[in-house]
Amino acid sequence: MKNFVPTERTKVRRKPDRGSYDRELIYSILDEAFVCQVAFIDNGLPVVVPTNYVRVGDKLFLHGSTASRLMKTLASGAPFCLNVTLLDGIVCAPSATGHSVNYRSVVVMGKAEVVEGETAKLAAMRDFVEYVIRGRWATVLPPTEQELKGTLVLAVPLVEASAKVRAGFAVNDEKDYSAPGWTGVIPMKWVSQPPVPDPRGNPAISAPANIQHYSRPQ
Ligand SMILES: Cc1cc2nc3c(=O)[nH]c(=O)nc-3n(C[C@H](O)[C@H](O)[C@H](O)COP(=O)(O)OP(=O)(O)OC[C@H]3O[C@@H](n4cnc5c(N)ncnc54)[C@H](O)[C@@H]3O)c2cc1C
Repeated sequence: MKNFVPTERTKVRRKPDRGSYDRELIYSILDEAFVCQVAFIDNGLPVVVPTNYVRVGDKLFLHGSTASRLMKTLASGAPFCLNVTLLDGIVCAPSATGHSVNYRSVVVMGKAEVVEGETAKLAAMRDFVEYVIRGRWATVLPPTEQELKGTLVLAVPLVEASAKVRAGFAVNDEKDYSAPGWTGVIPMKWVSQPPVPDPRGNPAISAPANIQHYSRPQ
């Protein structure tokens, strides 16, 4: 698997030792999440909008209503930038300014392509469901023709991407450790809680293992 090549835009300048273009690392961060923040320019002003994504091979797919500004802007070929962040910990340092967070994050720059055709759109919809909960597609109603018509599916080729990772303790000087405050890391993890059944659901259907024991990545 070829790594990403840093470009003028994706070259990590601030703390470059934390930057990476390792494709495997970038994909592992992307695959642990499924929500990204997409930044684009609307009427000359910057906007950031959160949305779901799915990674399939060397592409990210986004989907949304044909009425969505985000979808319409990206479908027009406008350049955008998206971010995915995993918060791994809160770093308690002896000094106020030494505090930090541990994280793994990815920035992707690009332009989207509209996914045309019912078969390709349906395949992408299936990927969306399966990426979030593997094994779910077979148990749900597929999108209707009308629902597919009202949905824009966009493909984002993963060409320009960077990762940045911080791990470990504070980077304070030894002398700072005379401060009275506790120092260390509070690890953070994005985990599912026990599933809550919909009161309108069929009580005879209990949550299967892929829902009972849900974890990321799928
Ligand atoms: C959860 C979290 C909290 C953070 N908190 C702070 C904070 O409080 N203060 C602070 O200054 N910084 C913080 N950062 C780091 C921040 O994301 C930037 O890396 C940093 O501020 C430098 O910004 P810059 O525009 O000067 O980066 P530059 O190094 O100039 O960015 C150049 C290019 O490097 C890549 N890049 C930069 N940052 C990232 C990233 N985080 N992930 C992937 N690619 C990246 C992008 O492609 C970007 O276009 C935090 C990051 C995360 C994930």
